[in-house]
Amino acid sequence: MGRMILPKSTIGIVGGGQLGKMLAQAAQMLGYKVVIWSEEEDCPACRVTASTIIGPYTDKDKLEEFTKQVDVATVETEHIHLSVLQGIERQIPLYPSAEIVGIAQNRQKEKSWLAEHHFPVVPFQIAYSIEEIILFKKQIDADVVVKTITGGYDGKGQLRLSRTDIDQEQRSTLSKWLSSEDGLIVEAWLPIQAELSVIAARNIDKNIASFPVVENEHRNHILHQTIAPARIEKKATDQARQITETLMEELDYVGLLCVEFFYDQEGKIYINELAPRPHNSGHYTLNAAVTSQFEQTVRAICNLPLGETSLLSPSVMVNLLGELWPINVEKVVSEPEVKLHLYGKKEAREKRKMGHYTILADSIEKAMDKADSIYISLLESQH
Ligand code: ADP
Ligand code: MG
Repeated sequence: MGRMILPKSTIGIVGGGQLGKMLAQAAQMLGYKVVIWSEEEDCPACRVTASTIIGPYTDKDKLEEFTKQVDVATVETEHIHLSVLQGIERQIPLYPSAEIVGIAQNRQKEKSWLAEHHFPVVPFQIAYSIEEIILFKKQIDADVVVKTITGGYDGKGQLRLSRTDIDQEQRSTLSKWLSSEDGLIVEAWLPIQAELSVIAARNIDKNIASFPVVENEHRNHILHQTIAPARIEKKATDQARQITETLMEELDYVGLLCVEFFYDQEGKIYINELAPRPHNSGHYTLNAAVTSQFEQTVRAICNLPLGETSLLSPSVMVNLLGELWPINVEKVVSEPEVKLHLYGKKEAREKRKMGHYTILADSIEKAMDKADSIYISLLESQH
């Protein structure tokens, strides 16, 4: 068995958002020290750690300062320049590796890697002009979605086009993207029965543990709620878990990975994208699984034995986005069974993830009903 990085050691986290915050809290629970490197002062993760480094990721002095204090590092976002990740990796262990984060941060590399390794992905192409996008639409005779190769998240950098026409506004968005990006991804818009995700961890000793498959409901391309476990046939959930574990082995992955899947109307599954870090669809594990995805990340990168991944109860997690602000907190906390998590962000903006809540119940239906009624009452109390 390989060496464990034991509690009292220091874990460095690049990124200071809510994922960094919850990861830091899990590391502290196990007795680790945490250093957060964030580009923003007063970030959600900065509030829970004594030790923070604030400054651009491209600042070499900050990189020195970070790696000197840290025994092992990880990221809470994939959107960090590859050269910075490589710089960290030259000094200290970084999990997942720079190479893997480099694949997940670039849709072209990600989709090409998946296709080359025979994982199921929807038909796609790299397009360098509007004409090529239109041609691809014609060839597949279906609606498409155009995505920027880098920088996209929560539906940003995405445009859906109908199979038939393309309007002036869409043309100008595409022209703008094409002038600043070296190519765009254009992919078939899939008629989806459900969106699924699998979160799994692999430690340095190559042990793997995956969480149950969950169902994700998006609104306006952003996650609205996660239903755990997914209400789909076992054949498909087994397949999704198997694909995830095979993928981790082929990447020689260390750390926590989320694989987002599409489950189409014929019951086929496709990989949508990879997130090399804790994922919004795993937040339910904080309250409804034996081990949380955050604790599991710490266990994987420190080479501890992985924690039990089974569910304590069916559950539903609902995101609270900035448009709900100012939120009626009294209303949420007066529901005794609600597990509320607020990230402590300074400012509420539209589409910004400000918090979430999780409901546990003895059936998925009951959890969904309760989650819905709270959400509706929050919407109503805005007016
Ligand atoms: P992000 O990085 O913003 O999460 P995704 O590629 O996961 O980007 O897209 C966000 C959401 O948009 C997906 O979860 C899904 O709801 C929808 N979507 C994206 N691509 C497709 C597609 N090819 N077919 C159907 N829905 C899609
Ligand atoms: Mg996604």
